[in-house]
Amino acid sequence: MRPELLEILRCPLCRGELTLTGAKKDGSEITAGTLTCPKCRVDYPIDDGIPNMLPPGDRD
Ligand SMILES: [Zn+2]
Repeated sequence: MRPELLEILRCPLCRGELTLTGAKKDGSEITAGTLTCPKCRVDYPIDDGIPNMLPPGDRD
């Protein structure tokens, strides 16, 4: 995902801003890492450059 997406992505539960930790980059693209909502204390993993924005209860 492109770093600009971080400005747009919001927590699907509370619409709050997310913080990125453990980011791995390939050039300017973020390929892996964890997006965390500090309010909900929920983590959204980035796999193969694609953020998984499903709330934890909706994941497989
Ligand atoms: Zn939240």
